[in-house]
Amino acid sequence: MLDTLFNPKGVAVIGASGKELHIGNRVIKNLLDFGYQGGIYPINPKADEIRGIKAYKSILDVPGQVDVAHMVIPAKFVPMAVEDCGKKGVKHIIINSGGFSETGPEGAEIERVFLEKAKAYGIRIFGPNCQGIINSDPAVRAYCNFTFTFPDAGHISIVALSGGVAEVIHQGFSAMDVGTRIYASNGNACDISIPEIIQYLADDDGTRVIVTYVEGLKDPMGFFEAARQATKQKPVLAMKAGRTMEGAKAAASHTGGLAREDLATDLIFKKAGIVDFRDEGHLINAAVAFGSQPVPRGNRVGIITNTGGPAVIATDILVDAGLTLPPLSGKTKAMLTEKLYPEASISNPVDVLATGTAEHYLVCLEAMMADDSFDCILVHFVTPFFVDTEKIATAIAQVNQQQIKPMVCNLMTDRRQWAGTEAILKEGGVPCFALPSDAARALGALVRYRNILDRPPGRVRTFGDVDTAGARTVFVKANGRSMLAADQVYEILEAYGIDVPEWRMADDIDGAIAAAEAIGYPVVVKADAASVVHKSDMGGVAVNLADADAVKNAARKMKEQIDAADLRFFVQQFVPGGREVILGAKAEPGVGHLVMFGLGGIFVEVLKDVVFNLTPVTDAEAREMVDGIRTSALLDGVRGEKPVDKTALVDLIQRLSKLVTDFPQIRELDLNPVMAFEKGAVAVDARIAL
Ligand code: ADP
Ligand code: MG
Repeated sequence: MLDTLFNPKGVAVIGASGKELHIGNRVIKNLLDFGYQGGIYPINPKADEIRGIKAYKSILDVPGQVDVAHMVIPAKFVPMAVEDCGKKGVKHIIINSGGFSETGPEGAEIERVFLEKAKAYGIRIFGPNCQGIINSDPAVRAYCNFTFTFPDAGHISIVALSGGVAEVIHQGFSAMDVGTRIYASNGNACDISIPEIIQYLADDDGTRVIVTYVEGLKDPMGFFEAARQATKQKPVLAMKAGRTMEGAKAAASHTGGLAREDLATDLIFKKAGIVDFRDEGHLINAAVAFGSQPVPRGNRVGIITNTGGPAVIATDILVDAGLTLPPLSGKTKAMLTEKLYPEASISNPVDVLATGTAEHYLVCLEAMMADDSFDCILVHFVTPFFVDTEKIATAIAQVNQQQIKPMVCNLMTDRRQWAGTEAILKEGGVPCFALPSDAARALGALVRYRNILDRPPGRVRTFGDVDTAGARTVFVKANGRSMLAADQVYEILEAYGIDVPEWRMADDIDGAIAAAEAIGYPVVVKADAASVVHKSDMGGVAVNLADADAVKNAARKMKEQIDAADLRFFVQQFVPGGREVILGAKAEPGVGHLVMFGLGGIFVEVLKDVVFNLTPVTDAEAREMVDGIRTSALLDGVRGEKPVDKTALVDLIQRLSKLVTDFPQIRELDLNPVMAFEKGAVAVDARIAL
């Protein structure tokens, strides 16, 4: 569908201008200079020719086929022009002009009107208020864009709403002499969307890696679905900015307070299998490596260098990124001992010395490529004047072109004096980085992608023992309440097979005693009223009550302290000695729910040691959550403490995920704490807000 947008046979420019500094001129210049292979049709009622090309008064006068029409005219003329394009049979319109929904309701109305017309003719709109597209495919060379970066043909495709950032990324590649495949920046994106373009790029054989930048997601689920499909086909690298607007939120529950404002986007990235970045420089460098290198099979890196320090810097970064530096195999060691200088350091990193020759680099590279101990290679290469650096570069490029294992190169040189050496590497497709850390990080990103590919696929469990209908009747009864009463909450948890201690609800003190007798001592008594949120803060929790007297005293005290007409007593079996953990969920409009897990008590309060995921949480993701908190070791038991039942927690997370998925009206849900034992886990406190 987007094929004709990116491979147009003819491009018209409506609003073509003879003025050098006008977009309607620049687009024509760009098409010409970039060597566009199709027909170019300037449309201008007053000009006969623009930039030496015959101009037409109306698009309807154009003799040839027009697949793409640029519009560089004031907003108010756009609807009429769209109508003409419809009559002409134009398939796509790139609207460079602004003055639409980005300016307010009036502009939004124009956008609505032209979009309606476009739909009637089956025209797809790109933009408005956008740059446009570029396709560097030698058979197309479409530069339907007014920017100024002319890419070589390449394998990296860029898609972003923000023209500014898309262009920064594009220039980043260009500065490294790395080509681009397709470039698309669609501004307001009123019709053709980022997810749709990602889908197109996923299917585009010439695109080896997709790079995108987002500030906020217009259609989070659409983006998620497209990205999830795309990441199965090729790497998708993304950056999200605007993360400091988080702002602490006053929320009734922990889950609400702990979830950062833009967390959902991060979670969407993660769940979709995107390799995410927080720094555009790192993103650019990684994309360069992805654009030319195969995916590593694992995380074991071999380093070759002719200078010591840079390899040390890189090693730190690599290890932080989760890579390992295994020793050389016996065979590699023997081979290098025979071939390298006697003073060379024959371990990992291998130091061939500054005097190391092309033969030395070659033998090292070939040995490491063949050595099963390594999944990827980092080459440090400084260019001393006393060796034939072009010959070394040729050796590196030659091995790289075999594409056996991914390789990146930290080239340390004076680019002006050693331009020939650099050119050999780049023409050989070797990703070259001036800084050791940049090379290491790019390699780290490749390994990150490997880890994503290796993630267990995961399955959303279905539960035979879940009573959705039973829970629904409780929700129906609770209709109108924003915070459910304790008995309602616990009935819902029980319907979803979530373990809770035996409990009873009592209207008065005598009722509380009767409830305690029925449950059996020791018990806990808790105050329940609409106005009571944090019970213990208000004296509303009394634990470990051993007999009827204790229950009576506790209940009486609560009655004195808490001034609430609807006060009732929630009596519950006392279950001491567990490890307290917290589980929660929070509705995320347009996405579903965030689900949270962490250690309870001070770990939540002080360390904020919690992890999140998005519904529906799969079994693999639930497991990853339980293992993913920083204090996870505490769950396994330290210094003689008993481990807790992680399997029960994994089960609990999935049941919680199912509950909030089935009942989207749940705004926030907190299980705080859940007591985790060596066998089993029970929720002793629960809150549900609608
Ligand atoms: P709130 O969070 O509203 O203050 P909780 O119901 O969480 O009240 O109770 C406060 C604390 O009391 C819990 O964090 C837990 O340590 C303890 N507690 C509550 N119920 C039980 C129970 N049934 N068994 C053991 N300890 C409990
Ligand atoms: Mg609590």
